[in-house]
Amino acid sequence: MAYKISDDCISCGACASECPVSAISEGDGKYVIDEGSCVECGACAGVCPVGAPSN
Ligand code: SF4
Ligand code: SF4
Repeated sequence: MAYKISDDCISCGACASECPVSAISEGDGKYVIDEGSCVECGACAGVCPVGAPSN
């Protein structure tokens, strides 16, 4: 199951540069993950300061 970013996201952008498949982009008020691209590596969850990404 692809990771998702919760509303806790503060749009810091740290996760986007860590994603190996560039699945993360800035959305409306928070960052979003393209479900079809995510390979579930967990890198985004590892760098997020507020624990917003989860699967
Ligand atoms: Fe990208 Fe990995 Fe996060 Fe999926 S789990 S969005 S592949 S960093
Ligand atoms: Fe949002 Fe966390 Fe990504 Fe920062 S690292 S943009 S707070 S999901």
